[in-house]
Amino acid sequence: MLVLGIETTCDETAAAVVRVGRDGRGTILSNIVRTQVEDHAPYGGVVPEIAARAHVEIVDRVTAEALRAAGIGAGELDAVAAAGGPGLIGGVLVGLTTAKAMALVLGKPLVAVNHLEAHALTARLTDAVAFPYLLLLVSGGHTQLLAVRGVGHYAKLGTTIDDAIGEAFDKVAKLLGLPYPGGPEVERRALAGNGRRFAFPRPLQGRAEPDFSLSGLKTAVRLAAEDLRDASGGLSAADVADLCASFQAAVADMVADRCKVAVRLFRERHGEPTALVVAGGVGANQALKAVLQRTADSAGLPLVVPPPKLCTDNGAMIAWAGAERLMAGFSDPLDIAPRARWPLDADAVTIGSGRL
Ligand code: ATP
Ligand code: MG
Ligand code: FE
Repeated sequence: MLVLGIETTCDETAAAVVRVGRDGRGTILSNIVRTQVEDHAPYGGVVPEIAARAHVEIVDRVTAEALRAAGIGAGELDAVAAAGGPGLIGGVLVGLTTAKAMALVLGKPLVAVNHLEAHALTARLTDAVAFPYLLLLVSGGHTQLLAVRGVGHYAKLGTTIDDAIGEAFDKVAKLLGLPYPGGPEVERRALAGNGRRFAFPRPLQGRAEPDFSLSGLKTAVRLAAEDLRDASGGLSAADVADLCASFQAAVADMVADRCKVAVRLFRERHGEPTALVVAGGVGANQALKAVLQRTADSAGLPLVVPPPKLCTDNGAMIAWAGAERLMAGFSDPLDIAPRARWPLDADAVTIGSGRL
């Protein structure tokens, strides 16, 4: 089975072809990602209108490139998948409409994939992880701990009560004068810094529910930075490095503690997980990965983190989630509407059925 996946929910225009063998294993034949980072950088964040226009301009080319790189013609596809949300609605509309047009012309099924479900299922493409597993979803817009029990079956264990972790990385980067997107830059600066210089708070540590909070931590970084600024408001590279390292250490500690609680809750509610899986752009952070490895080890679970290129937004995860949904018997009508909001824990079959 050959599935095309199109991703346009945020600031990446991406398309990929995934082949699924008789054994149900996926192989990525192509994975084209065109980021709009430079278009948004002057504004320090994603501008929805600019994003939508940029998607319109290149979605055709990116899709054609994905087919070419996979060495197949559109007629050989067995299905077309696109992210149907959640995300910036203008962008979602572009990718989903492109997929609808292709599905219509080719006479092949359409799958409108939940972008979060695609992040959630990526570890099954890369590592064939079996259900059920504990998922730490850490992206630009979401921070959740979920029990992934099957395709379309997600139970939320914990979530952030304010900012997403990726968003906090981006905001901390901005207040330290670092370029957008902030996550990779904070990680890079932290390499040269002292993570113990500032005793930033570990929000919600020890709480019985595995929820997250980032706003107090972000404020603590801002106040520490204000104390260090010179007369013209500047910060030394060494101070920036220490602030980044201390912030990152606080985030990693918080995540490790919350995951420990989530493992306990998972076992109470859903039995034994097969693994601790990380998904979403923040999963690209190597310092976080190192801390989570220790957490997983002490819980007696394997840690699965897809390679960074598959943690951040891409078309392969959409194609794979589309294939998983098809194999589970789901496809979508051509009049399915794009969704700005689309929570993942609305249990079971309603996800992607187009009838919510
Ligand atoms: P969502 O999936 O919630 O809709 P999104 O698609 O924008 O949001 P992703 O593309 O999955 O999010 O991830 C982007 C986020 O990941 C950004 O906030 C970025 O700063 C963060 N990020 C990327 N690389 C790293 C890193 N190495 N360390 C920390 N954060 C990172
Ligand atoms: Mg992005
Ligand atoms: Fe994402």
